Amino acid sequence: MSTKQKRFILPEDEIPKYWYNIQADMKTKPMPPLNPKTKEALKPEDLFPIFAKELCRQELNQTDAWIEIPEAVREMYKYYRSTPLVRAYGLEQALGTPAHIYFKNESVSPIGSHKLNSALAQAYYCKEEGITNVTTETGAGQWGAALSYAAKVFGLEAAVYQVKISYNQKPYRRSIMQTFGATVTASPSMSTRAGKDIITRNPNYQGSLGTAISEAIELAMTTPNCKYTLGSVLSHVTLHQTVIGLEAEKQMEMAGEYPDMIIGCFGGGSNFGGICFPFMRHTILEGKKTRYIAAEPASCPKLTRGKFQYDYGDEAGYTPLLPMFTLGHNFAPANIHAGGLRYHGAGVIVSQLLKDNLMEAVDIQQLESFRAGCLFAQAEGIIPAPESCHAIAAAVREAEKCKETGEEKVILFNLSGHGLIDMASYDQYLAGNLMNYELKDEDIQKNLDEIKNM
Ligand SMILES: *Cc1c(COP(=O)(O)O)cnc(C)c1O
Repeated sequence: MSTKQKRFILPEDEIPKYWYNIQADMKTKPMPPLNPKTKEALKPEDLFPIFAKELCRQELNQTDAWIEIPEAVREMYKYYRSTPLVRAYGLEQALGTPAHIYFKNESVSPIGSHKLNSALAQAYYCKEEGITNVTTETGAGQWGAALSYAAKVFGLEAAVYQVKISYNQKPYRRSIMQTFGATVTASPSMSTRAGKDIITRNPNYQGSLGTAISEAIELAMTTPNCKYTLGSVLSHVTLHQTVIGLEAEKQMEMAGEYPDMIIGCFGGGSNFGGICFPFMRHTILEGKKTRYIAAEPASCPKLTRGKFQYDYGDEAGYTPLLPMFTLGHNFAPANIHAGGLRYHGAGVIVSQLLKDNLMEAVDIQQLESFRAGCLFAQAEGIIPAPESCHAIAAAVREAEKCKETGEEKVILFNLSGHGLIDMASYDQYLAGNLMNYELKDEDIQKNLDEIKNM
């Protein structure tokens, strides 16, 4: 056997049989989501009208560390899992670093990102509970694409509300959803009360995630046998993503190394938690010293500059109140090209972990992220999603520190997706049309003031 093994792959029978629920092991449990009207702690039953029941129970489960992955979901994971753990020799060489860099390649999933890991699970539980229709919103379209395929697999009808501006500007993700058989509607639309109201007030409105969420939730509440689904932020979504870290743990063992630091890009926290939590288990239970670094965009810095407090999960204020690091649900992030990272808050688990100093966060400017993405593409032959470029940039920073100190640290990052449907963004970068966004303290404070008394 060559001494320089490039990729580490697990056989199908070693695809995890359980997801890891870190809530069970956390010394300080996340504070409960609250009913916004009564301010009482939410019970799973409160969420039953919106989500599949099993997902509601998983959301609030703080006792079971291991939750069995249904056989039908594992069967579908086999279509693309295990995903490779790759030693980034090319990137190491390009940087001239003594660090050992590994990445977990979630871009090999049929839809090109990690999101399918949770979409399959959510569609499965809906089917099991007799649901016939699922709905959701999507911005750039990655979650919508994953849900569309997962719905088809389990024989459900999917209705996706896509923010109007993305619907028109990102036609290929819409075609992907439609190819998988989903109905895609540009939001705001005339098909819901919420959409009609907005169009009546402002006929030219180009839409927002907040409006699309309102439309999708309204459809779920008014259609029999229809449930709403979400692709990030919530704890059950991150739970499903722990297949990433559980596989990576075994694969790092195959490589004969253990990571000194683990890095993920950060939108709502699902791919970051997915790769980190199985390793963090050893930090919590055995005191293992590993750094966990979330890489967020400088234009949407909830972890590095936001505030920990109760806030709504959506712009419209329909969701329960969540205890999280937030920039305020009214915060409107700049229109950066990593659409999947433009969310105002962080999931409740990650928020508690950051508060307890179990993890850290860095913010990355748009130009630095694309520069790192291009370097990675040229060194490893994979064009990363603009979101994933943030993780790569953070890994490059750490690898460069190793170059200065001469330390052979082991760096593991998650490649959450490929960028082959985001080439319009690369075009903009290569043409020199992209810029960095400096966010002033006053702008952040203004939105935080608005949610001060919640
Ligand atoms: C959605 C998305 C993200 C951000 O979501 P998280 O829940 O923070 O993981 C990151 N990368 C890609 C490729 C995505 O599609």
